[in-house]
Amino acid sequence: MKLVTFQQNHETAAGVLRGDGVVNLKAAGFQSVAEVIAAGTQGVARIAKWLSSAPAGALPEIVPLERVRLLAPIQPPRVFCVGLNYRDHAVESKMEIPKVPTIFLKLPTAVIGPGEPIRLPVNSQQVDYEAEFALVIGRGGFRIKPEEWRGHVFGYLILNDVSARDVQLATTQWTLGKSFPSFCPIGPAITTADEIADPHALQVQLSIGGVQLQNSNTRELIFRIPELIAYISSITPLQEGDIISTGTPAGVGLGQKPQRWLQPGETVTISISGLGQLSNPVLAE
Ligand code: ZN
Repeated sequence: MKLVTFQQNHETAAGVLRGDGVVNLKAAGFQSVAEVIAAGTQGVARIAKWLSSAPAGALPEIVPLERVRLLAPIQPPRVFCVGLNYRDHAVESKMEIPKVPTIFLKLPTAVIGPGEPIRLPVNSQQVDYEAEFALVIGRGGFRIKPEEWRGHVFGYLILNDVSARDVQLATTQWTLGKSFPSFCPIGPAITTADEIADPHALQVQLSIGGVQLQNSNTRELIFRIPELIAYISSITPLQEGDIISTGTPAGVGLGQKPQRWLQPGETVTISISGLGQLSNPVLAE
């Protein structure tokens, strides 16, 4: 199931994607995607049953996607990111394969939805893209055992870890250089965990203007989901709605020869198998 947050006639609602349209979940008793996450797998099962067994006429219409505006599917309390977590990217960066995951945060105020513009700040000349596979925490927990990870993952989405390299690399602390407004596009939907049989076998691709710049697979991940959940939750309890973004593969602008930075007028498109496509135009601030 693919859950979205959408706006129609100035009203914001939770929906589920159906072909080229969206079904409003209000009649199923859900006002927001956060409420569905709170209801967990039982909530998802309730929606599936409602969709399949509602008598004709009781099911709300499928509204064509061109008549709604998709927003960020959730407003996460926190966004955890992993630095240097793909073997091919570590090799490209001539860095040693890390022994402990490098975790940093993106401020949740940077979150935007599909189609919303990435705004290039005036105080950076080196804004870069990072295609990432991310997960959404369902049931929270402290010191989660690696083998119990499936009980805590609600679903998956695409995340673009937009990074102002000059700001990010001016110090050893990356958070601010990755937290300008609009630097965290997410979406287009949250794909529930039951739809992705193996999250460690997904193709991750990014292109700009038809030119493919990143193309890898989550099988290249150095630290996989069980280890990331166990490690982060050994320090801070994970909360419902937290996002963990698993890192970016080779091919970022910083690693291109010559280096390339986002320009106004470009559109960044990321696709991940099973999760759809996340596109965002780039504008000057
Ligand atoms: Zn990243």
